[in-house]
Amino acid sequence: MVTVGINGYGTIGKRVADAVAAQPDMEVVGVAKTSPDLGADGAGARGYPLYTIDDRIREFRRADVDVAGTVEELVERCDVVVDATPGGIGATYKPVYEAADTPAIFQGKEDHDLTGTSFNARANFEAAEGERYVRVVSCNTTGLSRLVAPLSETFGVEKVRATLVRRGGDPDQTGRGPINDIVPDPMALPSHHGPDVNTIFPDLAIDTLGLKVPATLMHVHSLNLELGSEPSAAEVRELFEGESRLFVVPERLDADGTGKLREYARDMGRPRGDLWENCVWGESVSVSGNELYCFQAIHQESDVIPENIDAIRAICGLASKEESMALTDESLGVGLPAVVGRERASLAV
Ligand code: NAD
Repeated sequence: MVTVGINGYGTIGKRVADAVAAQPDMEVVGVAKTSPDLGADGAGARGYPLYTIDDRIREFRRADVDVAGTVEELVERCDVVVDATPGGIGATYKPVYEAADTPAIFQGKEDHDLTGTSFNARANFEAAEGERYVRVVSCNTTGLSRLVAPLSETFGVEKVRATLVRRGGDPDQTGRGPINDIVPDPMALPSHHGPDVNTIFPDLAIDTLGLKVPATLMHVHSLNLELGSEPSAAEVRELFEGESRLFVVPERLDADGTGKLREYARDMGRPRGDLWENCVWGESVSVSGNELYCFQAIHQESDVIPENIDAIRAICGLASKEESMALTDESLGVGLPAVVGRERASLAV
């Protein structure tokens, strides 16, 4: 059993903790956060011991919230840390992890150079094997990497052009915007996403543009890829349907936007209405010569969660890529068509 501490219990950290708790080969030792707010109650309800930084212990006690110790103590008590603190804070913790000789997984807002290894399970699991510090790439880079990997292996990819329509903030980020605007972000090419995808695929030709919109539900990518061959749209769709972390949204669902996708996730009993898979609209998959076009939606709060679990197995040497991804998918229930299939089966009974 690998013991895991989660430093930072916000949008990503709380989901990672629940995913770790669902694994047969992992255990949550504790979670760390800086304020005794609603997240602390969520941790308490799940029985996760709560840790905080030294000078906040008194604040937790004043609020009558139990504290098991400091972040440093949590780091000492676990085999591996998942750092899910806000972007840039993770880097300040690396010396703490090194001092305790505890390997760590960082998140997408940290620089690639912090670890030298950026991770996406489908694309480069092996690169993380035996490493002590690994960065799971951002939600958007995860979404692009999952799509590029099978296309590149099967048809070749000569060039990617991606326009990323990005949610302004997560549902709980009351201070984020825009409230009523559409903001090119950044105004000039490239957005940081293309170079970030190159931390996974160093030789990939990719240009990305970004826009921020007043939405909280998901990001949407408008994609154009020049392939190395000329498959039919049906062949591309079939390839996508064979990937557990790509959900090819069937026309039958009439899920014509991100709101309906999230409603579908809630209807299917997903925790927090999460969609761990890229949602590629099936009817958007079109091919003209060697040019592939499609739209995909990315649930920013949750698509990196299975990747964090696989990153733990990679650095701890617990399983091969195939074994780890299969175990993660099975324990969480990743793979929506399978869920639909199971539901159909139980209805038939
Ligand atoms: P968040 O603000 O929701 O949560 C951060 C957590 O860290 C909070 O629990 C906070 O109490 C805690 N924290 C803050 N300072 C701390 C400190 N000094 N020590 C210990 N804990 C501290 O952040 P998030 O959205 O979960 O993002 C975390 C990381 O995940 C970032 O690198 C981000 O880029 C990445 N990420 C976020 C998303 C997303 O959509 N939210 C998607 C993919 C990756």
